[in-house]
Amino acid sequence: MTEFQVLIGILTTARAYPWMSQHDFDYMLLEGYIHFLKNQLSEIKAVDPYAIKFAQAFPSRSPLSMRDFKHLTNLIKVSALFHFAQRPLVIRKIKPETAAEDPAANEKKEIEERYIMVTRHDYDFIMALWNNIQETTETSAPGHIIKFYHEAVEDAAKEKQEFTIEDLTEKWNSRAEDKKSSDAIRRWTAFLCSIGYLTSRPDPNDKRRQLFKTIHANQKSRNYTNLQFSSIFTLETLKAWLKEAEQIFAHNSLSLKESLISERETSIEELYNRHFLSETCPHANISPSTSEASLIEKSPKVDENGKINKLRNFKTVYWSDGYYGWHTCAVCGYTKLTSWQAENFKDEKVWLCEDCKEAWEKQQAGDA
Ligand SMILES: [Zn+2]
Repeated sequence: MTEFQVLIGILTTARAYPWMSQHDFDYMLLEGYIHFLKNQLSEIKAVDPYAIKFAQAFPSRSPLSMRDFKHLTNLIKVSALFHFAQRPLVIRKIKPETAAEDPAANEKKEIEERYIMVTRHDYDFIMALWNNIQETTETSAPGHIIKFYHEAVEDAAKEKQEFTIEDLTEKWNSRAEDKKSSDAIRRWTAFLCSIGYLTSRPDPNDKRRQLFKTIHANQKSRNYTNLQFSSIFTLETLKAWLKEAEQIFAHNSLSLKESLISERETSIEELYNRHFLSETCPHANISPSTSEASLIEKSPKVDENGKINKLRNFKTVYWSDGYYGWHTCAVCGYTKLTSWQAENFKDEKVWLCEDCKEAWEKQQAGDA
């Protein structure tokens, strides 16, 4: 969870070396944000209209345990609270039972509860993160071997049904900064065989060589939407949840607002279209690393010309070993799994996603 880790990192550094960050503008913004969060959220809880549907879909479609499930649902709520400025607000008003007898006295007694609604963004973000961690935990494979699998092995498998250590070494060294000997690649490949990601057989033409093959490549998808979780996010479920919530207690009424920041009334259809309909909605992230850290969701949509201009500022692009994780791409603005970094002519380093790295390479080739 990069955003949170960055945040904790900054806070920890600040505590250990307070003189270092005293005049840091980012830190000041972050501090302000945390204070705001604390004040605003002390009385606010998260509500998840799809919790029951998700729980029903979960055990049958995922190999995760119930303990994992509890962690996941909590993380989804934390994600919503952290992004409260972009999440819908549910206001629940509860009238005291004596309302009819003494209306004047009751106006003051009416209780108002506020809830931040969990959205599809929170599910997508946490599930993607989880799937990534899960792969490492389940297979107990070190991160660099998983990276090797997804980058070199999967790529080789696209070209040939069966491949050799030489093929894999060539694949890896053609794109990785950190070049490896065929012995190292042989060890990684042996590990992948031992956890069932690859099978091997002696090459019938050259008995000293082994031929490798990936197995059940389709089943190892890291995208939870492929597990048909996406089918749980229906308008009917959302409407049913609201109806149920209003009937559960005779004296309560619910209203839906755009967000905590703009308390504009919103319809359930509008809310659904905005927050649950899209399958590939980008995640809203509040990044403490940019000076523009803002409570308003930054639009990741950058027009093509803007992208190309940004790419021209880069002197070099390279893979940074050991930093593979969720980073916000400086060009397109999406938060993706990547370890690509770019350096501009002022020697500043920024993150790049795989797609923008490829666009940069294409541009370089065109310019030359
Ligand atoms: Zn990008």
